[in-house]
Order: sequence, then structure tokens, then C-alpha cells
Amino acid sequence: MLHEMNLRYIVSVMSLRKLIYLSILLVAVTIGFLSFSAANAPNTTQNLTVHLEDTPLENSWTKNLRDTNWRAYLSPEVKNTLNIENTNASLNPYIALHNSGATPMVSTENGVALWGNCRTINVSTVFESSLTQKNELFDVVDGVAEVVSSYTGLQMSNSSNYKSLEKVHTNLPSPEKGSILIIWVSRNSEALSSQQLGTTEVWHTIESDGTPTITRARILLSEKIVERYDTGLIGRDDNIETAIMHELVHAVGIGHSTHKNSFMHTELADETFATSADIAAMAFAGSRSC
Ligand SMILES: [Zn+2]
Repeated sequence: MLHEMNLRYIVSVMSLRKLIYLSILLVAVTIGFLSFSAANAPNTTQNLTVHLEDTPLENSWTKNLRDTNWRAYLSPEVKNTLNIENTNASLNPYIALHNSGATPMVSTENGVALWGNCRTINVSTVFESSLTQKNELFDVVDGVAEVVSSYTGLQMSNSSNYKSLEKVHTNLPSPEKGSILIIWVSRNSEALSSQQLGTTEVWHTIESDGTPTITRARILLSEKIVERYDTGLIGRDDNIETAIMHELVHAVGIGHSTHKNSFMHTELADETFATSADIAAMAFAGSRSC
């Protein structure tokens, strides 16, 4: 699934211990769960982020010298949150993001796994054929992608239409390299647990300089999102748009926030919004030069 070329390179230059460590990271598909109790389930079973591999560096903001090519507009507040207001000081958004409660999806000692910001990310959508409102949901995803694109500065191109699949269970279609594949599944799909409204998986590779780079991502969105929420403003309050944005922001490398009102919290509160830390984290997601 991942690039053998890179893996072979690592074999030649690194110790066995490191190789094992990096192999785990390479194989790891990190999953952020947007989990809520379903309407008829008890609240006590709400889930948290589940990472398939538990490494000490995961979820910490680590430094990579390529993370200075900010593509998003940085307001004074965001600059302040990122602690990069003083241009004479070395950029240090890492501690600031950590202290703000934002987390990355995956990180290694060589930085956070992010998309390189010189390429366009292709976003495509697939629907399980039983879903209704395909056109409407396709348009919603389109709008959310545009918002995430402007917050991150990452270029995203949406395919002009969607595909339908007969059934989506455990044998899921894979995203192509350089793309984010969004799959809408029916409420009883086996691809998600009964508690999950959506999940995001992110694949990354390790480049020759050690930088972890996201190569593709797959988002599963359950029909339960539509049953549970109404439509609303993107990233504001608990609605269909915000739930989709939550997953799409995972797909650009951002993990959960500890802030209970953050749209990146594991559960969307009634009063949900993009905190200044969230906005800073999204800007950071688009800061990686290729
Ligand atoms: Zn999540």
C-alpha cells in the first residue's frame, strides 16, 4: 500500500530498532473516530480517538523545518495563538498548538504527518446506492471542502460528480495516491460500529529527509449523520456540515481537540465552533513545503 522505495531507503540508513519503529508508523493507518452515541444508545459508551498504534510521539507536535510555508491567511489572533507574531524569533507553533489542546493525527520525531502544500489534493465522493439525498450531500461536501481549503491554504479539487456503489461493508474502496476519498455508507453498514458517525484514516509515507507526508486519506460518513443532525453553518454548532468538516480536518492531519466546544472535539457539543487554536491548527496543516 505504501511506497516500497521509501521503505528500502530507510532499511539502508537506519538501525533495526528505528526500522521497526518506522515500519510500524508506515503500516499504521491512523483512525480518528467521530463518535457519538446513536439516538437510542446510552451516553456512557461514547468513544475517544482510537489509534491503531500507540507510540509515544503520536499526538505531539514535532518540529519540521519545512513547516514555514504558510498558505492560509493568518490573522493577528491566529499568529498570536501560533506564537509566531514576533518575526525575529524562530517560529515555534509547536508548543503553542500543544498548549492550546489541539493535536495532530500522527507525528514522528521528524514532524507531523501533513500534506505537502504544492500539490492539489483530489477529493472524490462515493455513495452507497441505498442512500437518498446524494446530490444534496455531494454539494455539502463540496462546500465543506472549500472552507477547509481556505482555512488550510491547501488546494483541493473536487470531482464534478460522484459514484454509487452497491454495498460498502468491510471491503472498502481505496483512495488513490494524492487524494481524499469520501464514502457515505448506510446506517447499518458494517464498515462503522453502531457508535460511529464517521471515521477518517490517513496514510503517510516517510520521505528521504525523514519527513512524514500524508499521501492519501479515506473518510467514512454514516447516513446516521443526516438522521441525527440538521443542515447548518459549516463549522458552527452541531450539524451535518460541521460533522463532515470534523472528518475532513482529520484528513489534513489534525487530530482531536481537548476543548469541549471545538469542532475537533470527539463529540460535537450543542455550542460548537472553530476555536482560534483550531484555526491555527488548520493553518499549520497547510504550512508544509514540498
Ligand atoms: Zn474525530
